[in-house]
Amino acid sequence: MEQAPIRVRFAPSPTGYLHVGGARTALFNWLYARHHGGTFILRIEDTDTERSTRESVDAILQGMEWLGLDWDEGPYFQTDNFPLYAEHIDKLLEEGKAYRCWCTPEELDAKREAAMKEGRKPKYDGTCRNRSDQPIDRPHVIRFKAPAEGVTVFDDLIKGRISFPNDELDDLIIRRTDGSPTYNFCVVIDDALMKISHVLRGDDHVNNTPRQIQLYEALGYPVPLFAHVPMILGSDKARLSKRHGATSVIAYRDMGYLPEGLLNYLVRLGWSHGDDEIFSREEMIRLFDIAQVGRAPSVFNPEKLNWLNAHYIKQLSPEQLALLLHPHLDSAGITEAECALIDVTRVCQVLQERAQTLGEMAQRALFFFRAPVEFDRDAVAKFDPAHLGMVFSEVAQALPGDDVEVTAEEIDALLKGLCQDKGWKMPQVGQPVRIALSGGTQAPGIGEIVSVLGCAETRRRLGFAIKTLC
Ligand code: GLU
Repeated sequence: MEQAPIRVRFAPSPTGYLHVGGARTALFNWLYARHHGGTFILRIEDTDTERSTRESVDAILQGMEWLGLDWDEGPYFQTDNFPLYAEHIDKLLEEGKAYRCWCTPEELDAKREAAMKEGRKPKYDGTCRNRSDQPIDRPHVIRFKAPAEGVTVFDDLIKGRISFPNDELDDLIIRRTDGSPTYNFCVVIDDALMKISHVLRGDDHVNNTPRQIQLYEALGYPVPLFAHVPMILGSDKARLSKRHGATSVIAYRDMGYLPEGLLNYLVRLGWSHGDDEIFSREEMIRLFDIAQVGRAPSVFNPEKLNWLNAHYIKQLSPEQLALLLHPHLDSAGITEAECALIDVTRVCQVLQERAQTLGEMAQRALFFFRAPVEFDRDAVAKFDPAHLGMVFSEVAQALPGDDVEVTAEEIDALLKGLCQDKGWKMPQVGQPVRIALSGGTQAPGIGEIVSVLGCAETRRRLGFAIKTLC
């Protein structure tokens, strides 16, 4: 038999931002499609009209675009498909595979309570399965007539064989009293009509799968293959949530993670290829396979994400990095005018090796744009004010003229010479100068700082430090 074309989908509900868990599901689907030359479809599941918002749709699209997860079809919106769902419900009714149910919520509650009291599993008792004594215009829902016996089995591509006894499954409501179709029904119609070959989604949907399979079968549509990806957990092994830190893709963008870093991190949450950790987009596409997605849940590890992000920051050229850093400088309050005075590319070059995020890099870069007005008092206290004064004025004097461009190596050599002349050890000069130029001790090498600030600005800052600290 010829294999059906690979068609996969990401089907978020627009009730919030794009969560990292959702982004991983999107990524796995995208990789599967790209690896096999298949089609990746984006479908917005907005049938819950009360909770779905246009802002969430936009946030999801924005997150996908930022990650570079481009889709081949869509976005489709389930709310555009209501006539299709209605058609299929009518078909099931005509064929006797669905029925009207007039049981009121009060009756259902009473039945549920009775079942619980008797220690039975609460389940719809089928009162209306063969009922024809009720006027059709009396408010009712439509239920699917699910098989009462046997088992529904599927071979999950990640979890292996899963089977559910049919007598544990309710006669699912497929249309509510207000006429709206229900979630599990819409998913099946969409997946069937979009000819989805593989349903790759979070394992919170495992319990929906047998009901969905029964619907495919009742409607005579081929059943797709299923692959349920285990959840992402926080460090305390509870499902990843806001309690554990940021969970929105856009929040990671705003903190200064690179899409490459986040994607590389997400692909390893559940999928592995030997002991490899670093995967470019092309490598992920080439190597991704559902067979290597693990059965155990993965734990979100922010340190590893930082490590990967630092790796991708180092891969960029300082010019590329400078472009990406600008919005973060802006968020940190640095104005265009302040930016214009400093070579941001050089700043990036100096900070690139040690930065984990662009946000952190912008914070570390602040002193280049804005001279410190306060100094780290504990660091200052380690030195005698007379020594500080001497160091600052000697360095200021030793620097070349204001307009002379200097390299980091020249400045480092100049300081070394000064130490030799005066009998100082390098840290006795380096730390005070670092404090004078940056306000604290967490700054790059003095040579690098001076080469970016220039001799005039360096002298000005040394002068201010003399006035303030000595
Ligand atoms: N809309 C569902 C969700 O956001 C996904 C359903 C599916 O993938 O089948 O969880």
